[in-house]
Amino acid sequence: MRHDDNLTTERPTFVTHLECSMTGERFEADRLHGLSNVGRPLLVRYDLDGVRGEMTKDALAGRPADLWRYRELLPVRDCADIVSLGETATPIVPLPRIGAAMGATELLVKDEGRLPTGSFKARGLVMAISMAKALGVKTIAMPTNGNAGAAAAAYASRIGMEAVIFCPADTPEINVREIAAQGARVYRVDGLIDDCGKLVGQGAKERGWFDLSTLKEPYRIEGKKTMGLELAEQLDWKLPDVIFYPTGGGTGLIGMWKAFDELEAIGFIGPERPRMVAVQAEGCAPIVRAWEEGARHATRWEGSHTIAMGIRVPQAVGDFLILDAVRASDGFGITVSDEEILAAVDRVGREEGLLLCPEGGATFAAYAKARADGRVRADERVMLFNCATGLKYPMADHSRTIAKDEPVDWASL
Ligand SMILES: *Cc1c(COP(=O)(O)O)cnc(C)c1O
Repeated sequence: MRHDDNLTTERPTFVTHLECSMTGERFEADRLHGLSNVGRPLLVRYDLDGVRGEMTKDALAGRPADLWRYRELLPVRDCADIVSLGETATPIVPLPRIGAAMGATELLVKDEGRLPTGSFKARGLVMAISMAKALGVKTIAMPTNGNAGAAAAAYASRIGMEAVIFCPADTPEINVREIAAQGARVYRVDGLIDDCGKLVGQGAKERGWFDLSTLKEPYRIEGKKTMGLELAEQLDWKLPDVIFYPTGGGTGLIGMWKAFDELEAIGFIGPERPRMVAVQAEGCAPIVRAWEEGARHATRWEGSHTIAMGIRVPQAVGDFLILDAVRASDGFGITVSDEEILAAVDRVGREEGLLLCPEGGATFAAYAKARADGRVRADERVMLFNCATGLKYPMADHSRTIAKDEPVDWASL
């Protein structure tokens, strides 16, 4: 098997049309689209009977382990439009020591930090940029808290597409520099990600940029959907009991939920679903608040703050899609504090050797809480999401110094 087989073998494609996620209104495929006429995300629809005949479990078994193995359920028609930096399948890493200490039967982490640019934003952006290329886009623009901008910059630069990125001024330094190092123009803005989004919207009108904001074009969901396809396949088509997802714009949660429906339609899984848990920070929890209030839409969270930048999203255009999935799955929303996040990152790093990002730490902290209050049982198979490598974030300095020319007190080392 050649490592790039998925990128070079033409396969039949099955996109039939796009559909407004709110009203069901139909839109033509193979055209450039933003939001629907009512300002909501568009979802890509497939001829799933056709997919069923082509993408069999046997056919999958012979393909390299990257996200392009699921081509029949992806929107890119032509191999020539695939933009790739090697979107490898990410491992499911168990936490056996912590799991045992907590009495858990199976505590698993999907470690997305292995993807290009060090985060799962690569899944969404590789698809969005490939489709933007297919549909003739010259310049993309997007707001970011860091990781999305980095992935967009990398894939755009790879094909000579211009990328203009706006981030809050307090975005982690490494992200801002990474975006520029990967060839994009990056601007720091004295506001939050939705303020950056407004600038992108204006720039799209003034300069004709294509707006790649979360859920404002249809294909990032399709890329993030591969997390659901991949984890199902890795678990031999048996989904976990509970998924803890660090929720910002919610693309991944919405995408996985869509993936499970499509997998059921092609006969790979039954009607069982994991309980989907939306994890947010105490300082920015619009989705959890709406879930608690029983509302279908979430209002903007004022004064957002948390160290987990990836989930510092005061308002999400796909709010109802997140909330619908959480409710339909009998899941819940839950918040954790920054102190709990830091303690979680520290514990998982020290005891399991797995360096989580703060958002990943949030899912572990939320799991611990949900176990304590009984919402998740010890015997349930649980999947936490670590969405970026911990190496991109500031780390506490616990080092000590030693003077090589002084006598060493060995007993104290
Ligand atoms: C973007 C991001 C999230 C949130 O993902 P959504 O699918 O947009 O909700 C979580 N963690 C990290 C590290 C991120 O970069």
